Amino acid sequence: MAKHGFTTNILHSDRRDGVEHGAVHKPIHTSSQYSYPDARELAAVFQGKAGYTYARQGTPTTDALERKITKMEGGVSSLSFATGMAALSALFTTLLRAGDHLISSQYIFGNTNSLFGTLQLLGIEVTLVDPTDVKAVAAALRPNTRMVFTETIANPGTQIADLEGIGAFCRANNLVYVVDNTLTSPWLFQPRTVGASIVMNSLSKHIGGHAHALGGSLTDTGLFDWTTYPNILDVYKKGATAGWGMTQIKKKGLRDMGATLSADAAHRISVGAETLALRLDKICSNAMALANFLSNHPCVARVSYPGLSSHPQHERAAQLFNGRYSMLLGVELADGVDTFEFMNKLEVVILATHVGDTRTLALPAAQTIYYEMGPALRAQMGIADGLVRVSVGIEDEADLIGDFAQALDACRSV
Ligand SMILES: *Cc1c(COP(=O)(O)O)cnc(C)c1O
Repeated sequence: MAKHGFTTNILHSDRRDGVEHGAVHKPIHTSSQYSYPDARELAAVFQGKAGYTYARQGTPTTDALERKITKMEGGVSSLSFATGMAALSALFTTLLRAGDHLISSQYIFGNTNSLFGTLQLLGIEVTLVDPTDVKAVAAALRPNTRMVFTETIANPGTQIADLEGIGAFCRANNLVYVVDNTLTSPWLFQPRTVGASIVMNSLSKHIGGHAHALGGSLTDTGLFDWTTYPNILDVYKKGATAGWGMTQIKKKGLRDMGATLSADAAHRISVGAETLALRLDKICSNAMALANFLSNHPCVARVSYPGLSSHPQHERAAQLFNGRYSMLLGVELADGVDTFEFMNKLEVVILATHVGDTRTLALPAAQTIYYEMGPALRAQMGIADGLVRVSVGIEDEADLIGDFAQALDACRSV
């Protein structure tokens, strides 16, 4: 099949992979189990032959979505999960053991930070470092370091890791390099291009895109040599070595934890993914316009957006993400402007958690998703008390800017 572009590949993936009844979408397979007329065949599938057994280990519908994600990320295989957090939990608990050391960005999604607390209770050492400079990552290296984790654009601070530098460092030290690509999505960035071993996506965000399904995925880029990794169980050292890591995650992480993506959610996410590029281009242009408007407004003290030349990693973002800067804005209002009063005046923008929806969302970060962790950790992660996290959607640009303008003007006159 001729190699086509990003969107063409997604649109025609189901058809090309074996059409059922002429359907253009992979059907939603709801069967819990899969039967075989020959008992030997059933046994062969249990012993590694391609096929389905019990839906906790995947269905034709989740497989079809996984193939699309693999194409989008330019990887060798993908695995889907019920949520992004399920994907991360399966990854870390399957590939790390007590006594291993993980180096992570300190600028990460709050729930990922919470998961690292759990890993530490299980005896895995975690060091948080500033990932914008690879030197900080290198300084944390220990003999028992196995893995390095970072997000691309950090949620919510928008810091951008030295993705290339960390990739070279991981290659030189033979470390598994895990990149959470949720904020950029494979339309803006493929972590494989900077040497990532495993790419994680929260499918709940850009890829699904419509706030109507949760999901997560892991993609093996094929760049890490699993024969050198000490934690692969002997039983999974079978077949092509490029598949060992994902086999262990599937057989241990997905099967033991059971956080399987439902066929219904896989279908919704698949349909959403068809318009990923269209939506994200509009989101990026809306976000850039809003960032420019807000950064020139007298009631706004600070706007963090990688597209602004004032952003500390603007040049890096421009180069890595091809001149597009995604959906997330960190907005801090001027002294004397009440954050909650301002938010309550928004009419188009929704007050809700979540990011990467078609609708624009605003959230007071320190008082909500970062509340539980307390002020010291918030300070380390760069979450100011007055920070409003904005996830820009695909509304008409004038409506969006008009809504922020009226809410800020109303605040000014108080
Ligand atoms: C939302 C998010 C996750 C977790 O994904 P869920 O699908 O909500 O579990 C992980 N990383 C980042 C950067 C996120 O924004």
